[in-house]
Amino acid sequence: MSRARDSIGTWIGWAFFADLASGLALTFSYMFSKSVTMQYPDKEKWLPYPRYRGHHFLKRDDEGEIKCVACELCARICPCDCIEVVPYEDEKGSRHPAKFEIDTARCLFCGLCEDACPADAIALGQQYEFASFSSRDLVIGRDDLLGKPGKAATGGGVVPARLNTEQDVLVAASEPQGYNWWQNIRRK
Ligand code: SF4
Ligand code: SF4
Repeated sequence: MSRARDSIGTWIGWAFFADLASGLALTFSYMFSKSVTMQYPDKEKWLPYPRYRGHHFLKRDDEGEIKCVACELCARICPCDCIEVVPYEDEKGSRHPAKFEIDTARCLFCGLCEDACPADAIALGQQYEFASFSSRDLVIGRDDLLGKPGKAATGGGVVPARLNTEQDVLVAASEPQGYNWWQNIRRK
């Protein structure tokens, strides 16, 4: 009985183009809903969540010394072989990296280097604007990694932004506005 009812329902649906009507209704509802296209980089910029794995940065301890002890564990675990560490010992016998380079053009941003580090010296931050025309510019050295932005406490929102081509193509952003990105693309 229920199979016969289903089959009648299917035929009625075919006869009145119910599926087509429902598809068109969905299309039209999107036409009149708020646009989720971001005007990047001229007007808006997405701030990733703190868990986002962006550009690496090296950390310093409370005395301002580099935390890295040049154990090379990150270089060993890296699946892309894109970290190079050359250690040296200072006058107190502590190890530091004389050279610490990451080839971000080859990096997968898997975060294994951060997980493997026994000294909590390296992490992947929220910076994602580091495109370049030359792959040589994407090899980042120790001092540049020490100066890279760390993780922000918050994220996951859109902020007003402005492209600054005079300052090395930077995207300048101001304070978050509490714009809920996901609410606009996940419909109930
Ligand atoms: S994030 Fe992954 S691929 Fe990139 S340097 Fe670290 S371990 Fe290597
Ligand atoms: S960043 Fe961490 S894992 Fe890599 S060499 Fe330094 S201390 Fe070792």
